[in-house]
Amino acid sequence: MRGTPEHVEPSGTQPCPDDNTWPYVRAQVREYTSSGTLVHSQVAREIAAYWQSLSAHRMRGGPTSNNALAAFAGSGKIERELLHDIERERLVGPPDSDVTATFSALTAYVRAVPVVVYSVGKNIAGYSPEADVDRFLDWSDAVERYKDMLRDEAADDITRDPDGECDCDPDGGEGCEWHVVEALVAGHIRDDVDSRTEPGPLGVVIRADSWAGSMSYWLAMAATAFGRFDDETKEH
Ligand SMILES: [Zn+2]
Repeated sequence: MRGTPEHVEPSGTQPCPDDNTWPYVRAQVREYTSSGTLVHSQVAREIAAYWQSLSAHRMRGGPTSNNALAAFAGSGKIERELLHDIERERLVGPPDSDVTATFSALTAYVRAVPVVVYSVGKNIAGYSPEADVDRFLDWSDAVERYKDMLRDEAADDITRDPDGECDCDPDGGEGCEWHVVEALVAGHIRDDVDSRTEPGPLGVVIRADSWAGSMSYWLAMAATAFGRFDDETKEH
């Protein structure tokens, strides 16, 4: 058996198989095909391991990029490219109905896995975001994006860059609006973001004196199924 997976198992799967040999895997795949009941996580990872090993063999000497499939088989970790990797294996696998059923059972399981998605975006306070919202599975990736967004965009969003023509002193309380926003962002990152040890929502609202509005910058978290996250973040 493959041990406890590094993901939350979807509810309503078939019971843990007595063994992870192929007859037990096949029995659960047959049950999935007839009733739609998801296979157990052990079976899903066994299927992934089987296709991963064939693929590693096929790609020997060539590019090996089924890392998400290998990670899922090995530890149960759900990585961004997992459904993409499964689909690629399905396309090169033999077009036999047993093989297709195996991939369908694995895909259905992976799509149903609950994940926490971290979204990073910005909007004029009170309005929907105009720019794209970025979505991440890893908290640390989301935090990096949040900090980059604030550092690269906030001052320009709110006011005009003085373009080096400015010798104001924001720390002495005599800053131009642009440099005041920069100082505020640096303070928020230092005091509220970098001190954070547990994943959680983040946000800051920055008021713009020059146009009497505010910009809201945020990192939000929400639970969803991995399949839905994949649909929403697919490159079109
Ligand atoms: Zn200035």
